[in-house]
Amino acid sequence: MSADTTAATPATIAATNAATFAATFAAAPHRADPLLAHAWQVLEAVPDPEIPVVSIRELGILRDVRHGADGRLEVVITPTYSGCPAMSQIAEDIAAALQQAGLPEHRIETVLAPAWTTDWITDDARDKLRAYGIAPPTGTCGSGSAAPQENVIRFVPKPPAPPACPRCGSAHTERLAQFASTACKALYRCIDCREPFDYFKPY
Ligand SMILES: [Zn+2]
Repeated sequence: MSADTTAATPATIAATNAATFAATFAAAPHRADPLLAHAWQVLEAVPDPEIPVVSIRELGILRDVRHGADGRLEVVITPTYSGCPAMSQIAEDIAAALQQAGLPEHRIETVLAPAWTTDWITDDARDKLRAYGIAPPTGTCGSGSAAPQENVIRFVPKPPAPPACPRCGSAHTERLAQFASTACKALYRCIDCREPFDYFKPY
């Protein structure tokens, strides 16, 4: 684990991308542009269609709002995983929110790099997921990989710690199914309070 700070593994690159994005976003130029600032404010409030307690911004799906080369408003989003069926719904929700706010025509730009990982989910969103009954991803998306120096065995993943129960906090949980309400989540059950819950899988 000490290698995380010195070697660029996919996990550290993803974590760095998410952190860099968060750090640079506060100072992004569109804060000073009234149209972009307004659009961002509107889009920040768009909820995730599958988990309405968190916004697409908090999940790291909404990446940017900018002026395109032709002057049109460009909304930059990234899919949470390849072929996520929620993306067309998200595009519709974005269109509806912008239209309702009286903002001009826009175009959706879908970017695949830097790739989305569960590291992009903000801390606030993790708390909201828990309160909603979904265990947030534990560790980072690459926490199961061996250290980069261990080239011989780096393909052998270490099983991640089971998620804590979002209701009672017990670590005494078991997985019932690899997929839950969506492919992004696994179905778990708390052995102490006996409640089933969704776990947002790290990747
Ligand atoms: Zn429990």
